Amino acid sequence: MSEDMTAFPLRLEGENAPMVRFMNVSKSYGELTVLDQLNLDVEPGEMMTIIGPSGSGKTTVLRMLMTLETINKGVIYVDGEPLTHMVKNGVLVPANKVHFRRMRAKIGMCFQHFNLFPHMTALQNCMEGPVQVLGLTKESARQRAEELLEMVGMSDKRDHHPSRLSGGQQQRVAIARALAMRPKVMLFDEVTSALDPEVINEVTGVIRKLVGEHHLTMMMVTHQMGFARDISDRVCFFYGGKIEEQGAPTDLFGSPKKQRTKQFLSAVK
Ligand code: ADP
Repeated sequence: MSEDMTAFPLRLEGENAPMVRFMNVSKSYGELTVLDQLNLDVEPGEMMTIIGPSGSGKTTVLRMLMTLETINKGVIYVDGEPLTHMVKNGVLVPANKVHFRRMRAKIGMCFQHFNLFPHMTALQNCMEGPVQVLGLTKESARQRAEELLEMVGMSDKRDHHPSRLSGGQQQRVAIARALAMRPKVMLFDEVTSALDPEVINEVTGVIRKLVGEHHLTMMMVTHQMGFARDISDRVCFFYGGKIEEQGAPTDLFGSPKKQRTKQFLSAVK
């Protein structure tokens, strides 16, 4: 049965509109339901962290925002507009590539594997998108890239190629590169999992700084509970493609209410 799209607004408006909304979103691969009628709002400027066991759907949430996955049901909105759909003749219809491309520009992402352009220096990595995609002049792209490399503590390495940088340094450049595109929402997917323990703090320090100084909306998936507790405004515990429990980090980590949350937290400690 096809879905009744009239249940979904064409836009989210007003001062209380969230920056990101998952509205009744379901996703399955064959028989496997990965997200089960998920409803999730992220407020402008909020740092929202997703935790949960492997396979609970955490990465799928981020992949959907990056338009790397289609959805089976529901609608995702970003910055007031539908992401998964577009408005045609006054109704919501599935988005096409052009719509996806326009909406994707609102979203910056950093992954476990940083995927910097290997043939470009740190500075060039941060200038490429703004020049090629946003159409900035080289001068203004360079100025912005230099500011961002400064912010992530990589100014002195700006002329180095990725192969000459450590994992932590590459990840910091990757964060600067994503920010150079001026996204509305930043996604961090396990950004510290591929790093050696001694450089993890370099990267978490940069993310901490972003939380403190920028009014960006951020969503993060992490296995580092201490870090999640430290920097998040809200933590969502995912289980079986649903939010099992959510709340302020002090509440969720300090006094979890659901049995599954308690079990998960005691197992990862
Ligand atoms: P998490 O990030 O919480 O570990 P994921 O969102 O990566 O979980 O995956 C949720 C579930 O979806 C897992 O059971 C995974 O095996 C399954 N899955 C993810 N991508 C695919 C795919 N392309 N095809 C089939 N199953 C997939």
